[in-house]
Amino acid sequence: MIDSAEKLKDILKEKGYKLTPQRRAVLDTIINNQGKHLSTEEVYDYVKKNCPEIGLATVYRTLQLLDDLGIITKINLDDGCARYELNINSDDHQHHHLICTKCGAIIEVEVDLLDHLEAEIEKNYKFEIKDHKVKFFGLCSKCQ
Ligand SMILES: [Zn+2]
Ligand SMILES: [Zn+2]
Ligand SMILES: [Zn+2]
Repeated sequence: MIDSAEKLKDILKEKGYKLTPQRRAVLDTIINNQGKHLSTEEVYDYVKKNCPEIGLATVYRTLQLLDDLGIITKINLDDGCARYELNINSDDHQHHHLICTKCGAIIEVEVDLLDHLEAEIEKNYKFEIKDHKVKFFGLCSKCQ
């Protein structure tokens, strides 16, 4: 995980962006909270602890930049706010999200269960699949 964090920081430098303390703080927050799908406001709350002078607008712009560079991915989990997660293997397909409609828990499915479906689509529609976003809605084990 430390390796990938360093790799991401290199990408930023390669594209000509300076790793300012604010950008570093935002990136570190995402890296240290993997699997939490933080919203812009949540990232801001974390970053403020180490960078009290940072503004919400800066956090917002930094997240946009990291998204544009493919370092993080914006995900929409239908709870009314944009959330972000690290995009470590950019050629890999996005993992699937299970969303509990009662308590809002978000569970990640690490395996790509769509290989068979993808092969079928690629064959029948002559469509080359690069990625997908799959959300399953239902009740988590605690809410059943
Ligand atoms: Zn896939
Ligand atoms: Zn639940
Ligand atoms: Zn996720």
